[in-house]
Amino acid sequence: MRTGIGTDVHPFAPGRDCWVAGLLWPGETGLAGHSDGDVAAHAACDALLSAAGLGDLGSNFGTAEPEWAGAAGTALLAETARRVRAAGFAVGNVAVQVVGERPKIGPRRAEAERALSEAAGAPVSVSATTTDGLGLTGRGEGLAAIATALVVPG
Ligand code: MG
Repeated sequence: MRTGIGTDVHPFAPGRDCWVAGLLWPGETGLAGHSDGDVAAHAACDALLSAAGLGDLGSNFGTAEPEWAGAAGTALLAETARRVRAAGFAVGNVAVQVVGERPKIGPRRAEAERALSEAAGAPVSVSATTTDGLGLTGRGEGLAAIATALVVPG
């Protein structure tokens, strides 16, 4: 078995739709980025690529593959899982922790887990925490996520 780790951070960008953990969050401030800024999906992708030894989001979906520049987080996660499986691995699970003040993940945690699990084709658990007002997430400047993944060589 092999484990992997991923992190992601995006700044808030007023006026954009807020996509986090594969869900649209009405009334919440969106996140900046070429993509939808879904830090949870992006951290999950990096964890899967890390576990499989396939590099990272930048090396997989960077400037060499401009067609992925504006992709939804769930689309990136589905394609990432496909590449991991194509490299000969089964996906065991992915765990994602969202770090920030808003949106509040708790009330929609099960829904978020369903969305990301469907994209990955494997169990994705979602949890959340705050930093007690400290740092960029505590000041409400952006949102962060950390993820781990387990893959099994086929
Ligand atoms: Mg990102």
